[in-house]
Amino acid sequence: MSNIVAIVGRPNVGKSTFFNRLVEKKQAIMDNESGVTRDRQYGEAQWNGKKFTVIDTGGYVTGSEDIFESEIRKQVKEALGEASVILFMVDCHTGLTDLDKDFANIVREVKKPVYVVANKADNPEKSFMAGEFYALGFDEVFTISSASGSGTGEILDEIVNHLEDDHEDQFTGIPKISILGRPNAGKSSFLNALLGKERTIVTDLAGTTRDSIHTRYKLYGKDFILTDTAGLRKKTKQKDDIEFYSTIRAIQALQDSDVCIIMIDATRGFESQDMQIISLAHKYKKGIMIMVNKWDLIEKDGKTHDKFKKEIVEKLGPLSYVPIIFTSVLQKQRIFQAIETAMKIYEQRSEKLSTSELNDVMLKEIERYPPPALKGKYIKIKYVTQLPTYTPCFAFFCNLPQYIKPPYERYLENKLREHFDFSGVPIKLVFRKK
Ligand code: GDP
Ligand code: GDP
Repeated sequence: MSNIVAIVGRPNVGKSTFFNRLVEKKQAIMDNESGVTRDRQYGEAQWNGKKFTVIDTGGYVTGSEDIFESEIRKQVKEALGEASVILFMVDCHTGLTDLDKDFANIVREVKKPVYVVANKADNPEKSFMAGEFYALGFDEVFTISSASGSGTGEILDEIVNHLEDDHEDQFTGIPKISILGRPNAGKSSFLNALLGKERTIVTDLAGTTRDSIHTRYKLYGKDFILTDTAGLRKKTKQKDDIEFYSTIRAIQALQDSDVCIIMIDATRGFESQDMQIISLAHKYKKGIMIMVNKWDLIEKDGKTHDKFKKEIVEKLGPLSYVPIIFTSVLQKQRIFQAIETAMKIYEQRSEKLSTSELNDVMLKEIERYPPPALKGKYIKIKYVTQLPTYTPCFAFFCNLPQYIKPPYERYLENKLREHFDFSGVPIKLVFRKK
């Protein structure tokens, strides 16, 4: 959960080259189009059986001379604050610069294990140059070449000593539910209400920070683990909210869970950042539900609920399969229903439908509205089966799979959802030749 390696250093030392080598594929966790990560790149890596997240802080420093404004400093420090180990990269080609010294000061303040890595040590002569980086005041300087990969094994051997072993298996089979939402939505209050006692101090004050926490609950005969990201990055300014959702721990909590509860403050409404985190949960095929909290604060007439819901559903667009629950944590309204809904999503997400049941229903629907012919060719879907994947995925076997277009795929998905309850569960459809 908390194995994070941050790569820092001034521009052009080779951070992204090294990052790409570590994560092998160029897989940033969040795509830029979602607008969530702007400056940071996150990726998953593995060494000697230990898994970790790599943060490339590459985008922070864009300019040239007047680089060390407080904003950049703040952002770098935030990324470092999330890290378990810091890899401080410098460049043997250019040698020690003032900017390296500035970074060294920042890195030192964070009080985490730091490795100075002198990159571009492509030959022995360059490696020899690395000696001058001892002036930065850290114990040891490792030389590597990100371009060729030489030296990377040695540094990774060191780094993984600071990382935790995978404990994931310990909890297999127990539903993992994460609670995500902007600061002040009511996440901590929700957990306290569930637990029935003040587990954490809930305040209106900005600036309270703590890490996400896993808690195993046994409530009403149900056994589950809640990951709570409450208290992460409590801030006053609205512009910081995006950063909240993009903090590595919020993303890790999302990735680590089976079902994500996205909690919204009814007085603020459903905002684009909420949609972004839902899109991410959808992309990772997590169970999803929306909890509109502080419903007690909304002045209501007979239509308020439906109107509020309709507005969210419209914003959800194709993700309108996500259930929406209106709660008041303060008045303990529907908070157990919220947990029950999350558990139901968990069950439906792990359900396997039988092939006969599927075909009985779906072949009729296909007959009623067959895929439109393309280029004079008829497309015949012969049968459908659920694949033995972790999350629901349905394979439709047909003569010309490449001719099935997105509108028809949506038709099939809608029919599947109509007949089988996949509320809150992302499903995937694939078309195969038969
Ligand atoms: P960043 O700004 O720190 O992320 O740096 P990049 O990864 O973008 O690298 C900056 C430049 O250095 C690129 O042109 C890379 O191809 C080059 N580079 C990266 N690693 C090495 C290396 O080990 N040896 C050499 N010779 N060049 C490298
Ligand atoms: P978090 O940042 O998401 O963990 O939010 P908190 O649990 O700290 O709640 C923020 C504030 O909202 C606190 O003052 C809570 O008492 C208040 N709050 C939480 N849930 C409700 C609710 O359902 N109704 C009302 N009126 N206030 C709530």
